Amino acid sequence: MAGFGDNKIEEVRARADIVEIIGAHVRLKRAGRNFTGLCPFHNEKTPSFSVNAERGFFHCFGCGVGGTVFDFVMRVEALTFGEALQSLARRYNIALPERRDGASGGAPAGERDALVQANQIAAEFFQHVLWNTHDGTLARDYLVKRGISMETAKAFLIGFAPARPANLAAVLDKRGLIEAAVKLGLVKREPGRPPYDMFRARVMFPIRDAQGRVIAFGGRVLDQRLPKYINSSESPLYSKARAVYGVCEGRQAIARADRAIVVEGYIDAIALWQAGFKETVASLGTALTVEQLRLLTRYTRNVVACFDGDAAGRKASLRALEIFLAAGLLGRGAFIPAGYDPDTMVRERGAQAFGELIDGAELLADYFLREQATAAGASMSARAAAAGRVAEILRMVANPFEFDLLARKAAGMLGVGEEILRREARKPGQTQSGNRAGRAPVPIAATAAARADGVAQAGVGLIAIALGYPALRAAIYAQAAPAEIEDRVIGALLEEVCLSDEAQASLEIPVMLALSDEQRGRLSALMVGPLAADADGARKLVADFSAALARGRRRREVESLRRAAATAGLSGDDAAAAAQAVIALRRQVHGG
Ligand SMILES: [Zn+2]
Repeated sequence: MAGFGDNKIEEVRARADIVEIIGAHVRLKRAGRNFTGLCPFHNEKTPSFSVNAERGFFHCFGCGVGGTVFDFVMRVEALTFGEALQSLARRYNIALPERRDGASGGAPAGERDALVQANQIAAEFFQHVLWNTHDGTLARDYLVKRGISMETAKAFLIGFAPARPANLAAVLDKRGLIEAAVKLGLVKREPGRPPYDMFRARVMFPIRDAQGRVIAFGGRVLDQRLPKYINSSESPLYSKARAVYGVCEGRQAIARADRAIVVEGYIDAIALWQAGFKETVASLGTALTVEQLRLLTRYTRNVVACFDGDAAGRKASLRALEIFLAAGLLGRGAFIPAGYDPDTMVRERGAQAFGELIDGAELLADYFLREQATAAGASMSARAAAAGRVAEILRMVANPFEFDLLARKAAGMLGVGEEILRREARKPGQTQSGNRAGRAPVPIAATAAARADGVAQAGVGLIAIALGYPALRAAIYAQAAPAEIEDRVIGALLEEVCLSDEAQASLEIPVMLALSDEQRGRLSALMVGPLAADADGARKLVADFSAALARGRRRREVESLRRAAATAGLSGDDAAAAAQAVIALRRQVHGG
């Protein structure tokens, strides 16, 4: 496959011991051919996380996440594929050739190191100015005024950027890091003048990733100047939509408390942390993103977002519900009383009052349902409209138990039939919203869904067998007709694997990278599970999977003919009969 001819990937894969790598994060116990443990990607009390060392795959039967050692490292350390490859190569002392630009999905290693180093030096520089220089006096006064202790400020690496324009630029230039600094937005370079600092006379808040690397800065003025805050520009290290402030400082507390509190700003996060809510992080944007929530789900699934108690805050919480659902979470909302923000509330009303507010945080879905019930009132049409909005939201709930719970609640609150609501929610939406999370669509026990599931399973299953049994590839190609598989990604991958004479090892990684999260989960489930132990078993599976694909194809044909017949004026059974007749005819013509 183009772009992956590099057998270094295979070498790293072969050398990396998946049990050792995963074992550093998960306590693994041998159970038969596999190792099992508690999944690091979702909260659980009984292990549903399996590692198959022989095949080099892991899979969690609880949350559906799975893949190779690369997928694990990417997920657990929030790296791109290229970064995960480099990290594993370094660990096993495998020299990688310099990658072509962009091939590693990010900056080349040398450049990335320079960026990390420049940010690190900048953070140290700002701290030095804050604590050890006369320039820092005003900023130290500011921290005192905001009630931020020295200990807290040091934990968050808070610093101060002096007012003079080329302080940091000079420091970084001396270290040969000026290019990196420009790329990070720490330093600006314009023709006809020496490089100068972007952050001047600002209290500096370093933003760190979960591993503790400084990836960006936020800088706040000390007076009333505008803008109040400026932030580092997007860079290979920093994406605003993905970064969560305080995740490095708070991640252990989040995992321990099995809860994350999300606020908006630096000062709110720091104040709550200082008041004992060490599980607090900040979104640093106007709205929480799916990626930010995904990052938090590594440590907990119980996320409480703080909103203003006013009408705007209530409205924001309803928008947040969709983001939470898209991230596969239900989410809770805590409404800060009017006139306060989290910082002033915890300082003026105390940690206990704030703790009670958080403990009492309501499920966002409950709040949404209550709003809809109120809107529905007594009128029939208003109730129907509300039920429509509820169905739209239900459609986004990925977890079947949560779906069930919410459907029941919603029916009760709106006074509509539960079955009607469920049926509405099962209809494919106008938008792709139900699948925005990249997860399985709502897995309800509808037969249509089950069938579609069978077809999806068959496509991925055939890829798994084609990978593992090169001798069967020709037979799979003939039986499964990859070109006719409805999911074009699966069809194209299956075709590519079937027509390749490369070994499993060199095909597996490109295939994994091309699959969606859901498909990757299906594949890893097969790989750690009892996928055909021998060629005979594999041949039988090929027949089963191919038959499932053929049934799916036929159903699609009948459906489209039925629709054509219906628009042509035939209805119901007549249309179905006509469709069957056409298919029978075609089969005679084509001999199958
Ligand atoms: Zn899991």
